[in-house]
Amino acid sequence: MKVTSHIPNGSGRVLNVSPERIEIELIAYSKGARYFCVEVSDIEAPCEPELLLVPDSLFRIKEFIYKFYADVWIRDLEGTQWQRTRILDHSPELMRYSVPLQPGKRYLLSSEPPVRYVDTTREIFEIAQLRPHEASIHYLGHSIEHRPLFALRISNEHVKLGSEGKPLIHIVAGEHASEFAGEQIARGMLDLVLSEKGAPYRRDYIFDFVLNSNPDGNYHGWHQYNRRDWLEHNYQDTVDRSWHHEFLPYMQGKPFDYSPETVALMEWMKMTRPACYLSMHSWEGHQGNPGAFYASPEELTPSLGQAVRAITEIACAISQKLGFKFCPFSYPGDNLHLGQFLMRNEVAVAYLPEGNYAVGPDALRALGAGMLQGILNDSRIPLRELGGSKWDKITTLTT
Ligand SMILES: [Zn+2]
Repeated sequence: MKVTSHIPNGSGRVLNVSPERIEIELIAYSKGARYFCVEVSDIEAPCEPELLLVPDSLFRIKEFIYKFYADVWIRDLEGTQWQRTRILDHSPELMRYSVPLQPGKRYLLSSEPPVRYVDTTREIFEIAQLRPHEASIHYLGHSIEHRPLFALRISNEHVKLGSEGKPLIHIVAGEHASEFAGEQIARGMLDLVLSEKGAPYRRDYIFDFVLNSNPDGNYHGWHQYNRRDWLEHNYQDTVDRSWHHEFLPYMQGKPFDYSPETVALMEWMKMTRPACYLSMHSWEGHQGNPGAFYASPEELTPSLGQAVRAITEIACAISQKLGFKFCPFSYPGDNLHLGQFLMRNEVAVAYLPEGNYAVGPDALRALGAGMLQGILNDSRIPLRELGGSKWDKITTLTT
């Protein structure tokens, strides 16, 4: 039997492989070991090995902090459906699963079912091809390894870039490349926008979807990193190498050697001037539930404080209907994140949903569709008063 992480989206150190046991060490990025993806092939006879996941032995934290609700998913490479494997037991040092395998087949195993950059790229080009009057593809720039970043724009009419004239909703996924639960929330939003129900929204708004904002990270299976973070990674320091921390200083015009991905994404936002910025993430905590990260409402103007409370209310109500909890989290005094900055300065409404794959991909998509619909329909969220000319002051703002 062969097990390898040298595949697109692959991650993890394969320690032992036999028909009885597959042992994988999960590589730690900034905050710990979370994601893995491997391909299993050359299976000689039906077997059901134990899959053992152990934390990164080189990292300063020698245990899994948040993995207690984490599933491992399996997909037969000839099929399209990911299925949960059976959990045997979880401890902070070791997680065990049972993985049924058939001879002659090839499988993917992952803690958070990935979507390949090439597949997403093909998918958005197909949408633009099938709906030429409503969908278009835009090139934003490229990654360090020269993979293009694309936006899929949806609206019922084509408008000149930079003169949008309608409130623009910017939805971005994959800044943290392996946070595929977050991507599923974005895909739910795309489902809504493309659906029949989405017709009035396509008339009244413009939607920009950037489903792969860190294509190198997606390709290499780097959890929170882009290429430069990976090259600078070391196991001694405690720096949070989330490259999205570059976004805010870039917007403020602070000199630095910015990643080309940062330049591509930020220049696109500066040109298109969204009224709403939704950045998708995953988080393994929250006891297996989705949640969100956002500006503390107490630090915002009454109008935006009300808007952020309204989004949280919408997300909680939908989650309750879907049978799980939604765990919102605001962090007072935050001066690291672009979203919080845009909110504090009344430029755009911003929210960072955090998916959790424990609830499954369908529920995450339903959450995304419901959240976006709620945001667009709720009069407490003043989208028409935000974005556009509010961006004029962006480089002069310091708080
Ligand atoms: Zn993240």
